[in-house]
Amino acid sequence: MTTSELQQTILEAKARLGVCVLAHAYMSPEICEVADYVGDSFGLAQKAAENPAQKIVMCGVRFMAETVKILSPEKTVVLPNPESLCPMAEQIEPELLAGLKETYPGYTVVAYVNTTAATKTLADVCVTSSSAEKIVRAIPNDKILFVPDCNLGDYIQKQVPEKTVALMRGGCPSHVRVTAEDVKRAKALHPEALFLVHPECRPEVTAMADYVGSTTGIMAYAEKSEAREFIIGTENSIVQHLELKCPDKRFWAVSKDCVCHNMKAVTLTQVLRAVLGEGGETIALSDETIAAARRSIDAMLRLGA
Ligand code: SF4
Repeated sequence: MTTSELQQTILEAKARLGVCVLAHAYMSPEICEVADYVGDSFGLAQKAAENPAQKIVMCGVRFMAETVKILSPEKTVVLPNPESLCPMAEQIEPELLAGLKETYPGYTVVAYVNTTAATKTLADVCVTSSSAEKIVRAIPNDKILFVPDCNLGDYIQKQVPEKTVALMRGGCPSHVRVTAEDVKRAKALHPEALFLVHPECRPEVTAMADYVGSTTGIMAYAEKSEAREFIIGTENSIVQHLELKCPDKRFWAVSKDCVCHNMKAVTLTQVLRAVLGEGGETIALSDETIAAARRSIDAMLRLGA
């Protein structure tokens, strides 16, 4: 079967069976083309909650499928590849967070949305990479414990210096591979290009950027900008997505190593099996976990995400 035949089979199956397919923006273009929605993880979970489909296939990593389930507990949510985990989300066990809370009494616990459902149950409020600064500003407490990404937390600390932000030493292994040397080399090769970077990158890398923002933010910035050339400091699939969206502009990956192998573990065949109910893992969370995790997400929404 060719890629386009497989895509056609998926499109027919999801229409026949009433299945909604979500694809994180780090998925391959072949998967994005068969999805109902493409975007950042929290935006996708919100889209799934609004969609009338009772079965959702989340093409991404496990915490993303869990977030879909938390927002749509009555729906069947399937992760096409059960081995697709986010290493950063898995860095923080509930026991570790419970210990950090004891170390930092009186701090508001802010969890990046890239965390497991179990971690979210222990957080006071969640944030996305695009809402983190606004949420931290709005929290009525000057002391913040930010988990698990120390680079995003450090970036937020710099934007909100009036607060004290305690960090754990977690982070995204894909984004921390980008070094200041990579940026210097890319800028030397493409001196006219603007450098757009995700705040999961190291502080010395974000310090060299023309724009710092979420994946959705980077894509929107590049689309609207009058500049013609961009160095992209996030997962490398975004380079190809932007090339397809903006064929008159030029995009360069800051480092060929900024790749998320867990995202890349999802294949088109796995998506078809998940749609047909012949593969993948159906996400199961207890009512207690969903309710407790939902509280930290609702707190984020109340504070203006
Ligand atoms: S890119 Fe980083 S944060 Fe996103 S899923 Fe991969 S490891 Fe996790």
